[in-house]
Amino acid sequence: MSEGLVTVAYLGATILFILSLGGLSHPETSRRGNLYGIIGMTIAIVATLLGPHVSGAGFAWIILAMLIGGSVGLYAARKVQMTQMPELVALMHSLVGLAAVFVGLASYIDPDVHYTGTEKTIHELEVYIGILIGAVTFSGSVIAFGKLSGKIGGRPMLLPARHWINLAGLIAVIVLCRTFLKADSVGSGMVPLLLMIAIALAFGVHMVMAIGGADMPVVVSMLNSYSGWAASATGFMLSNNLLIVTGALVGSSGAILSYIMCEAMNRNFISVIAGGFGTEGGKPAAAGGAQPAGEVVAVSAAETAELMREARSIVIVPGYGMAVAQAQHTVYEITRLLRERGSDVRFAIHPVAGRMPGHMNVLLAEAKVPYDIVMEMDEINEDFPETDLAMVIGANDIVNPAAEDDPHSPIAGMPVLEVWKAGTSIVMKRSMASGYAGVDNPLFYKDNNRMLFGDAKKMLGEVLAVLKTAA
Ligand code: NDP
Repeated sequence: MSEGLVTVAYLGATILFILSLGGLSHPETSRRGNLYGIIGMTIAIVATLLGPHVSGAGFAWIILAMLIGGSVGLYAARKVQMTQMPELVALMHSLVGLAAVFVGLASYIDPDVHYTGTEKTIHELEVYIGILIGAVTFSGSVIAFGKLSGKIGGRPMLLPARHWINLAGLIAVIVLCRTFLKADSVGSGMVPLLLMIAIALAFGVHMVMAIGGADMPVVVSMLNSYSGWAASATGFMLSNNLLIVTGALVGSSGAILSYIMCEAMNRNFISVIAGGFGTEGGKPAAAGGAQPAGEVVAVSAAETAELMREARSIVIVPGYGMAVAQAQHTVYEITRLLRERGSDVRFAIHPVAGRMPGHMNVLLAEAKVPYDIVMEMDEINEDFPETDLAMVIGANDIVNPAAEDDPHSPIAGMPVLEVWKAGTSIVMKRSMASGYAGVDNPLFYKDNNRMLFGDAKKMLGEVLAVLKTAA
């Protein structure tokens, strides 16, 4: 395949990637978006394999690597639980970062083209920046994986003078860059390069360790963005236009997603990166202004079914617990039954419900819930005062009134679904345990709130059985 033909194929793949991103922005078009992405990636891989840069033994090595990587990917994708998806994504970002580091080192030690003068400086700068972003992405993603999977505690680790430590790291990286560019041999250039890698790895660890549990969604999408920039930098090193464009697409879409999520949580992007969220005042919400008072009122599955039957308008708020219990199919069966009886049933989706952006949308789509009754937070929040019953299924932080009422709460300012404004709210969960952010929830103690304790799937099964017998 000639260079020209490869360029045309790359152009086609780029267009498909853009169409893919467009498709993925809505649940209804997401399958098509995925398909465009798959076709684009297949074209990109085939064109690269048949292109002028791959030959003989290289071809065999790539096929072998693809077989190993493909098998690991297939195994992981089949085995991973939906709730473990963010961890898997974080782990994959770490591999993109690591690849950028290795490609950078290889491209420095044994460049494809032996540049001289300014071109050499530019190439070395690309190598340096690519390795820098790659190393930060790698270690940051490994820590994000550890935090999301519970292997590392969710509390932010705040070193004294941490901003100064980061600043010192940045200055050292700039000084080392100068030494690296001035080095007259690969051997002498390796010293500042390896020192920079050590600093970048430490910075990645420090940056993510300092970020609290409630900000993890933003961190995952930010690391997604970093992995894109790392790929893009690799593209510059290898003079591969497709990698540059694809990396930039991932980098910018990840950055936009991080921004949208910050808006949804009423957080400032810079303060998220600066870390520390989840420890303000160092106390849980229970010790703050909106101190939970009174007792909780527990209800049975039969009483829940009764309240559902009586309600004309119902809003269901799914959260992480629904994903854990895999209760979405039962939820939809109940919804169908109630709608057939003439009730108005809708779903309210918080932007950070569950453990990854779009988590609830994916589960509800899997259960075949029609898209027109699935509402975003902004679309439905003002309808709660006119709603008879708000049914919270395995959600906690996203319905916590302390976010609005208690300025000392670690989640203060985060927009929440105002379920307490409905006539009655029922929270379905197994215990009084707190959610991801680790803060108490005053909703549970409100007069118009009821608690249905138990596993979401089991309890909803019982509710469904009662509804069916009464139908
Ligand atoms: P939460 O983690 O706040 O609460 C989930 C609740 O579900 C828990 O309190 C738990 O209570 C309950 N639960 C767990 N298992 C079951 C079960 N089998 N049956 C019934 N209930 C169950 O989830 P939310 O969705 O409300 O909020 C999401 C949180 O996760 C936010 O803090 C967000 O910032 C964070 N986050 C979001 C990400 C995203 O991108 N969406 C990524 C990473 C973090 P109990 O143990 O008593 O049953």
